[in-house]
Amino acid sequence: MCAHPVEALASLGSVPVHVGLLWRSPDEARSCPRGDLDLVLCPACGHVANAAFDPTRLDYTGDYDNALHHSPRFLRWEAGLVADLATGLAPGATVVEVGCGDGRFLAQLCRRADLRGVGFEPGFNPVRADAGLDGADVTVVDDFATPEAVAAHAPALVVARHVLEHLPAPGDFLAGMAALAPGVRVYLEVPDLDFALVRGALEDFMYEHCGYYTAVTLGAALRWAGFTVEKAESTFDGMFAAVTATTAGPAAGGTGGAGVPADPAVDPGELERIRSGIAAIEERIERLVAEFARRRRQGQRIVAWGGGARTVGLLNLVAEAALAIDLVVDINPRKQGTFVTGTGHAIRAPSVLSTDPPDAVYVVNPAYRDEITEMLTELGVAADVFSV
Ligand SMILES: [Zn+2]
Repeated sequence: MCAHPVEALASLGSVPVHVGLLWRSPDEARSCPRGDLDLVLCPACGHVANAAFDPTRLDYTGDYDNALHHSPRFLRWEAGLVADLATGLAPGATVVEVGCGDGRFLAQLCRRADLRGVGFEPGFNPVRADAGLDGADVTVVDDFATPEAVAAHAPALVVARHVLEHLPAPGDFLAGMAALAPGVRVYLEVPDLDFALVRGALEDFMYEHCGYYTAVTLGAALRWAGFTVEKAESTFDGMFAAVTATTAGPAAGGTGGAGVPADPAVDPGELERIRSGIAAIEERIERLVAEFARRRRQGQRIVAWGGGARTVGLLNLVAEAALAIDLVVDINPRKQGTFVTGTGHAIRAPSVLSTDPPDAVYVVNPAYRDEITEMLTELGVAADVFSV
């Protein structure tokens, strides 16, 4: 959280602390550790945070998979991002990725422009990563990325995708990165809070994410930390907020080590948009309850498509949806045969639907609706495809 006084936004309820954990039995899945989502807004800097967040409750050592990269649509978008980021970098230049996961994205970027990659990922598993690195000049450090450790590699580009929203003190991280040598390009990407607000997507809020940003508030946070912001935008069809910025060096002012601007001012219109978006989320919860109750009264068998974070949020925060949904399917083979954390719904391969077709398929992430409808047609399943 930032260090300014905050206002309460919404208490959404209790969710599993980890959305990506894979459980091998429904009982295990149901007895997972839980935590509350108490959203607050800082009227000074626009930061949205979970006031109930406690980092000591998180433990990333379990069987964990949150990968989006199985979707063809996501892969196409990501290839475009790789091309953009590689532009203007000389062969042999160093790219540092903070929170590089399995190293797959960093390897792709390095292969594209003949770059040297250094990734930081605590708990990095080289066995799972092997295939993805595929000959790229990439080293992964099994540790957190401190500004000193990043600076030691003299990077031309620093990438941090889906990292900032996990940090209880994001301002400290930004201030540390802003103090790298002048002229280092930085690409930061987080889930776009706008995407949740516009769609009333309560399932986009999760315990692991203690901070939430729009493109506007993320850009502002980087400016206050001392970066020169080139571009702050919503990307991947509004799902991500991304900022491209350049370090101006330690002498640029910024917020220094504290990482909290003393006198920030975020556009009041942006604050109002955030407040009314949260109200829309409360309305959507009512619509979800009504729709799933209606279908349940009709005796429909409903399958949810997508075993990821959004499904975990939906099933745990909307009891009516958990009662109505019979089964979850997912194209990610690692998820198949596991059970949804918190509720114990089984996750299977979509192919099971052809032998036992449901009445309706709930599309958890409407961005994938066309893709899912196509796959259902290929499976010969004529179910009512819907989302709320
Ligand atoms: Zn603040």
